[in-house]
Amino acid sequence: TYSILLLITITRLITIVGKTEQWKAPILQELDIHNISLKFHNDPEAIKIASRDYGNIVHEFPRAVFRPSSIDDIATLIKSSYNSPSPFDISLRGHGHSTNGQAMARDGVVVDMASLRKQRDGVAINVSKDPLIGHYADVGGEQLWIDVLHATLEHGLAPVSWTDYLYLTVGGTLSNAGISGQSFRYGPQISNVHEMDVITGKGEFVTCSWQKNLELFQAVLGGLGQFGVIARARIALEPTPKRVKWVRLLYSDFSAFTKDQERLISINGRKQKTALDFLEGMLLMNQSPINNWRSSFFPISDHPRIASLITQHSILYCLEVAKYYDDQTEKTVDKEIQVLLQGLAYIPGFHYEKNVSYVEFLNRVRSGELKLQSQGLWDVPHPWLNLFIPKTQILDFNSGVFKDIMLKRNITAGPVLVYPMNRNKWDDRMSASIPEEDVFYTVGFLHSSGFDTWKEYEAQNREILEFCSDAGIEVRQYLPNHRTQKDWSNHFGAKWVRFLGRKHQFDPRMILSPGQKIFDKQQ
Ligand code: FAD
Repeated sequence: TYSILLLITITRLITIVGKTEQWKAPILQELDIHNISLKFHNDPEAIKIASRDYGNIVHEFPRAVFRPSSIDDIATLIKSSYNSPSPFDISLRGHGHSTNGQAMARDGVVVDMASLRKQRDGVAINVSKDPLIGHYADVGGEQLWIDVLHATLEHGLAPVSWTDYLYLTVGGTLSNAGISGQSFRYGPQISNVHEMDVITGKGEFVTCSWQKNLELFQAVLGGLGQFGVIARARIALEPTPKRVKWVRLLYSDFSAFTKDQERLISINGRKQKTALDFLEGMLLMNQSPINNWRSSFFPISDHPRIASLITQHSILYCLEVAKYYDDQTEKTVDKEIQVLLQGLAYIPGFHYEKNVSYVEFLNRVRSGELKLQSQGLWDVPHPWLNLFIPKTQILDFNSGVFKDIMLKRNITAGPVLVYPMNRNKWDDRMSASIPEEDVFYTVGFLHSSGFDTWKEYEAQNREILEFCSDAGIEVRQYLPNHRTQKDWSNHFGAKWVRFLGRKHQFDPRMILSPGQKIFDKQQ
């Protein structure tokens, strides 16, 4: 087909560029006009990087990797595919931290956003103020959240909604939702965006917001990269606190654990001083280390007594909360936490506290990552499964999955997160798919496996999903991984028709983000 020929030509051009002009198809002459033909790469190293992600399970090989120097380069690339008789696939590789090939493009072109990041070093994060919306940062979609944090901190400001791990791009997390322990109060990251510049699947540059081009704005947020490239996002900022009181409490009873979590997230006003700033939860089980890569917290001297409690109960549930403070609130923060934790049903004596800087708290996963990297354990397969579960079905999920499937299989390695969020902090007109109930949980099985054992974890993931289906648990996948359009239509439920309509409007030739496996040009 024309697109394959085009890509083969691009590939050949890369190796012979500058020598033989006659290889250029008409479309390439157009690419040359915009000076992008030199930005395609197909050396083994470039192809290898673009065919891998953090999951390290799916490997799709692109025809070429495109290293843009500017947003215009990306627009030109998309336009040339859109205007071609047979368009080619284009994927955006933010930092490649998805787990199922979502940023890949088999036989297509992968845009390496890291190249743009390098080109725009220091110029793509700008802090400003608007009388209506207050402080904000205009941030390139290719930027890492850790860099957004450092740049905004220079102004004494920071975004309010985060992910647990900050070495992810703004475009990559806004394409999903961007959730963490702040979501119950501030909503996911997609709820904290005022405006975006987007390059659509037609190669058009469009500024969208709540006031302008609303349909595109809502489509792109949580849109899995299907509708356009996020070139710039305007992120809400607030003054930063200095330090954080960080508390973990252990439970043996799941029902008491979730009751306390739900009580705590019911105090959730953005300006409500008595609210917590962060709430998560996780499982402690025999197979996993008591301290894991997500954070080292429990004192070594306490490991034996925690381990013996795990042996006694098989699973412990760890509630994790944090409250920020600064010089003005330093004197009252302990009292406020005491009031919040009063009456909680954790196991007496299993209350742990840390006092850390704000940056140390937000960047808490980094030290675990560096440790694993030094042991060669960061780049192993990651057969992850992330779910959203309605509040009324979380007890059934505990009995069927945590207490049954996981204990029987006895393979769980890596953190298992469980925490609730408030639906009213999300906007259902955005593309992200969430359960219908006012409160829903996220459960994240963040497995690391061996190169020869990841299939066992995938089998467990399938068993969990089958159990939910049989038990009528209305589970939605977060960072979804579906392979058929029927599964995608179930995933989006009532929003599917709108999702389809938006695809036809903004990427009618089905060019963008083929690695999500939602649309197939051949259909
Ligand atoms: P990539 O993997 O490169 O891309 C993912 C998708 O986003 C692709 O479909 C791609 O086409 C699209 N995309 C990328 N850039 C753009 C852009 N500029 N415009 C439009 N689309 C784009 N998620 C959470 O919500 N909360 C967490 O706490 C959290 N913790 C994590 C911890 C670790 C260690 C890891 C590996 C992942 C974690 N994630 C978390 C998941 C993460 O948010 C997503 O996988 C995210 O997509 C990764 O960002 P990335 O920049 O690596 O994106």
